[in-house]
Amino acid sequence: MAGMENDQPEVTGVYEVPTSLSPSRVEAFTKCPLAFRFTSIERLGDPPTVHTTRGSLVHRALQLGYEAPAGGRSPAVFEDALDRALAEYRELPDYTLLGFTDDQAERFESECRDLVSRYLTMEDPDAVRPIGLELMLSAQVGNLTLRGIIDRLELRDDGELVVSDYKTGRAPSTNWEQRSMSGVHFYALLCQEVFGRLPAAIRLLYLSSGEIIEATPSAQSAKFVATRTAAVWKAVERACVTGEFQPRQSSLCSLCAFQRWCPSFGGDAALARVEAPAALGLAVAA
Ligand code: SF4
Repeated sequence: MAGMENDQPEVTGVYEVPTSLSPSRVEAFTKCPLAFRFTSIERLGDPPTVHTTRGSLVHRALQLGYEAPAGGRSPAVFEDALDRALAEYRELPDYTLLGFTDDQAERFESECRDLVSRYLTMEDPDAVRPIGLELMLSAQVGNLTLRGIIDRLELRDDGELVVSDYKTGRAPSTNWEQRSMSGVHFYALLCQEVFGRLPAAIRLLYLSSGEIIEATPSAQSAKFVATRTAAVWKAVERACVTGEFQPRQSSLCSLCAFQRWCPSFGGDAALARVEAPAALGLAVAA
């Protein structure tokens, strides 16, 4: 996961330009500017879903598992790591807001166990040399500060860096493969800015299917990411100044928590600020 932020907040338009944005939020803007406004500008909250909580919990379990030294990363260690992650999450709104029944909680936990078990069939954790887990990196590129959290940065035997990103959703079709790599290319750009060199490989590990998609970043791909990120950021700034965050309908609308306030579905976007926190059981960020 990664992000970008402006040097100085601006308050010259309808909305204050945020001082920081994660790249997933930048992607969110490209998917639907109005949904982006609700979650990232008005900060009405991002209600947890089974999918997002399962993903972050499994990431946490793998992080805990990798805290064991090489040679000691057995399946039992990862099982214990998952138990610890579950114990942490049972206290968090990301979990409690899902309102699971006992049966649903059991199914959810079993799905998390399956993902961790499948991960252990994809690579040998004892052979991995991590030099950063959930590693926060930031770098100045042009007039933007780029920020990101890399799931796992590792050092290969030949001294090269490798970025690995865990995915708990389905692997993309071939057509969408390149797009799914945009986040990890962003991490490659961060590595270049922070460590002075690109990683030799960036990898997406799809834990639901056991597939691994790998790419080799290049100076060209890093430049493309920097240019695209700057362009998206300009569009965010423009929308904040004009107040125009257009709805963009897609298959994602069926999962959108703000659909009832979306003009594309007959709603009034202005009412979301007042109604959404109570309706969705969320607190508005200060
Ligand atoms: S319902 Fe669809 S178009 Fe409307 S805000 Fe949500 S994602 Fe955007």
